[in-house]
Amino acid sequence: MRFTSRTLTVPLAFLSVLTFALSAQLKQDAPPAAPILGFSMPHAAAEHQLETEFQSIPSPEKAREWHRTFTAEPHPAASERNNQLADFVADEWRKQGWEDVTLRRYEVLHSRPRSVSVEMTAPVLFTASLREDAYDVDPDTKNPSVSGAYFGYSASGDVSTELVYAHSGNPEDYDLLRKNGISVKGKIVLVRYSNPYSYRGFKALTAEREGAAALLIYSDPAEDGSTHGKVFPDGPWGPESHIQRGAITYDYIVPGDPTTPGWASVPGAKHIAPEEARSLPKIPALPLSWRDAKPLLENMNGPEAPKDWQGALPITYRFTGAVKVHVKIDMDTSMQPYTVVEARIRGSELPDEWVLLGNHRDAWVYGGVDPSSGTASMMELTRALGEMKQRGIRPRRTIVVCSWDGEEYALTGSTEWGEQFADDLKKKLVAYLNVDESVAGAATTAGPDGLSFSPSAVASLAPMLVEASKEVRAPSGKSLYEAWRATAKRDTNASTLPLDSALVETRIGSGSDHTVFLNHLGRPVINLGFSGDYGVYHSMYDDHYWMERIGDPSFEYHVALTRIWGVVALRLANADLLPFDFQFNAAALEIFLRELEQKNRVDPKRLALKRLHARIAEFGIAGAALREAVRVDMYSDTLPQLQFQRLNEQLLQVESNWLDPAGIPGRPWFQHLLYSSRYTYAHLEFPGLTEAVEKQDWKLAGKQAALLERAVEKNTKLLKSAETWWERTAQ
Ligand SMILES: [Zn+2]
Repeated sequence: MRFTSRTLTVPLAFLSVLTFALSAQLKQDAPPAAPILGFSMPHAAAEHQLETEFQSIPSPEKAREWHRTFTAEPHPAASERNNQLADFVADEWRKQGWEDVTLRRYEVLHSRPRSVSVEMTAPVLFTASLREDAYDVDPDTKNPSVSGAYFGYSASGDVSTELVYAHSGNPEDYDLLRKNGISVKGKIVLVRYSNPYSYRGFKALTAEREGAAALLIYSDPAEDGSTHGKVFPDGPWGPESHIQRGAITYDYIVPGDPTTPGWASVPGAKHIAPEEARSLPKIPALPLSWRDAKPLLENMNGPEAPKDWQGALPITYRFTGAVKVHVKIDMDTSMQPYTVVEARIRGSELPDEWVLLGNHRDAWVYGGVDPSSGTASMMELTRALGEMKQRGIRPRRTIVVCSWDGEEYALTGSTEWGEQFADDLKKKLVAYLNVDESVAGAATTAGPDGLSFSPSAVASLAPMLVEASKEVRAPSGKSLYEAWRATAKRDTNASTLPLDSALVETRIGSGSDHTVFLNHLGRPVINLGFSGDYGVYHSMYDDHYWMERIGDPSFEYHVALTRIWGVVALRLANADLLPFDFQFNAAALEIFLRELEQKNRVDPKRLALKRLHARIAEFGIAGAALREAVRVDMYSDTLPQLQFQRLNEQLLQVESNWLDPAGIPGRPWFQHLLYSSRYTYAHLEFPGLTEAVEKQDWKLAGKQAALLERAVEKNTKLLKSAETWWERTAQ
């Protein structure tokens, strides 16, 4: 037996959650269960039973209760409430039966406002409220402990000068200003949050490089407000006073505590001076609601900005003219404790192989979506797995769960924890399954196909994720797999249903807690979540009312997320053969490489990529050959587990081999050769090669291509020798 469990029985009540095919098999009990990637046939049957039992435990009512608890008060990092919630999570996990529940403390450079103000001093006087309106229907909006506008890690400053409107604050926007004879040097710049979303920390770095004295970022209704539909409290979009708080850290250069780049902020650790920290902005910056930004924009009298710079306010947007602003920001940057809560269920057979689950706890205000929807899904997941353990069912591998802290500031808790346990994680971590926002969309406005299931995963794990989605029911009543295909078709306006291989987003950027595990430690990651209409991100209105009335009134999406998260975790924890698909991995790499060539019109005389294409093709062939060699043996129940274990060690090594300890040029913390993020948090494949090509630095590009060739070749060799070894030793 693969689980140290009593014989499983499946009560009839559980059958209602099964897909038709599976329930037919169980009722007849003669035909073999559907195969599962990585499971021998006998073990697949046991796994199906176990997953059925698991899926019967999570409940929408419990998810609603968790959600109410976590969103009852504002709980930003380093607040008393967020620290109380750490103790609460630890207590609940103990009660649920989890083992080794531990609070990990980190001493980090924090950032919070002492005082902030924005005033227009000319041509008319106006003081920005920097606050959000209360609504009677939602008493949480009246809570006096809700913060006003601020950005984590803004510099302090006191600036009084002319205002310039710079559209989205991207480099090309400043180029256009220059063409119009406008410099932002020493000026205050007003920019919009942009759509598609671009990380505000990139806007800050760009403004800093342009020599601006201060930066204001506001939410134009064109981006996340009334242009899209009804606003809060009647709909999912942002009302006039909503403020998108956030951090502006340069964590795309190095995440975590800015004063411990590359090592953990454990008590007593060495810290560099803040002035030396590459990830700390030097520019004072604040977010504004459009209601606070409108008087500034409409009092400008300079040249009219072009059509695509016009937003959705009923005014003419201008570059500059007549408006003088006084911005004053005083930030408290004292050291504060952050707490990561950690727990595990020790594996019955392979306790030193870990499947890690995680979600951040800290929120800018209530975190209705971000992150408490994910927290509610996680608490239902830990409750279900805890209950299974209490019934005597342990996973074969150890399942570790973490409640991260300070994600919103610089992915800090997960980064410090990952750096602290780097050696263990590199050896033991099979995969990290991250959930930040589990339900980031409004089911009430989503239409008949429902919210979009929008996961991302390293390509090697994409096929197992698609397979797992067939076992989970979506709130629409279809299987999650069918619902996923339907929403993918809807979202891309495609005329036919997408292929399985097109479902999973295999391009992974940054912006959540998977970053340290993928980019720094070279472990495979999956991000899970539903998405849809959502315009109150990081504002006070991202709260329980939003979720209960607009987002997920039935809380069924929360539970669907718990179920897919758990099924994927259980498959990774119980598989005989770890379900990495390197043939699919190679196919994805080939697509990435072709995109790079086409987008940049790479001239083969300048940069020869023929060899890299060939190496990737060989890697795919070796992946397919190994899978074929093992496939026949998956039908037998006689193979010793030791055999699989040896093979799994080699498969895990493939993922480790994508790391280059030197890191990508200019960002040594980011060591993955296949994945990184742009400074906007957007995904970036073959980061070293792509950035060199974009700079047209052909010498560096040649070096980076050679590095990639060597890594791919090393992995091809590894897969081939694993295949030879398997054929020699199996039976
Ligand atoms: Zn989040």
